[in-house]
Amino acid sequence: MSTIRICKKCGFILGTRPGLLEQDGICQACLNIEEKKNIDFTARQQWLSQYFKESHNKSKYDCVVGVSGGKDSHMIVYRLMHDYGIKRPLLVSAVDEFTMTEAGKYNRDNISRHFGIDHIQFRYSHDEFCEQALAGFKGDLHPLRWFEEQCYKVPFEIAKNFGINTVFMGENSAFEYGSAKQLDIFCPLSDEETKVIFLGAIYPYSIADSLAIAKQCGFRDLTYYNEWYRQGTIEQYAQIDSIAYLVHIWCKFPKFGFQRVSDIACRHVREGLLTKEQALQLIQDRDYILDPAAKADFCRTLEISNQYFDDIVEKHANYNLLYKDCNNNLRRLDFK
Ligand SMILES: [Zn+2]
Repeated sequence: MSTIRICKKCGFILGTRPGLLEQDGICQACLNIEEKKNIDFTARQQWLSQYFKESHNKSKYDCVVGVSGGKDSHMIVYRLMHDYGIKRPLLVSAVDEFTMTEAGKYNRDNISRHFGIDHIQFRYSHDEFCEQALAGFKGDLHPLRWFEEQCYKVPFEIAKNFGINTVFMGENSAFEYGSAKQLDIFCPLSDEETKVIFLGAIYPYSIADSLAIAKQCGFRDLTYYNEWYRQGTIEQYAQIDSIAYLVHIWCKFPKFGFQRVSDIACRHVREGLLTKEQALQLIQDRDYILDPAAKADFCRTLEISNQYFDDIVEKHANYNLLYKDCNNNLRRLDFK
């Protein structure tokens, strides 16, 4: 019999995600969504208005916004310009080397054009990106660990170089996904002269709110171009910029028994959009699936074979949580 445990409220697998806290069979992400009701977001918004009044930049830019071009990026820029009257945020992105989607290209272009602001896109050399991604993939099946760090570091470093003292990021994912109990406003990267603020800690952030604001600002999801119906997910609007990014997300499945379907479906349960039973059905049916187009683009970019990819995955597969079905797919033991 399987010893896999799940959260009593949202159905998320317990005891495998690094850092995930839990209490009496309930994951911290579920506890945090209750905790959110006690946070005075109006006071936080007033605090931010005051912060802008008191902070003085040496730059012609008011702040840096770390963006990918996705729905949260659109939401952050809209909030800053619309709610706080910020006139010149500087957009900064680190870009990966995978093939971009049409929607991703459009959104990256749209965010600068729609708001009429400048955008710096920082591209690492192809070789460095691929070397780092391959090392992460081989070492602990975490291909974009290095790149994700750069997505925080690059906006921070560019802010310093331009004499800008504030950087905005989207959600505080440690809180939203349950590895922290406090919804901190400042990212730990902050130092004396440059503050990094999670705008998702100033508003009662939800996926639905963020998507609605982004769409008002012209954001397009993958269905717009009908270009690719992604497998192994339950939505077509998050992390859609590049095709192989899904591989990075999927790599949690062999190690921890969950990936994007669990993350989003259980979040939808917390946000009242799905029942736990519906989420569990989606997780059982789809969480194990690796999108074939994403795998092909990943292997092509890193110049590795399908067989090599499969061998690395096999090395990291956790058979305390998983088994192989008749099609050679890794599946969760508790759904056998
Ligand atoms: Zn939960």
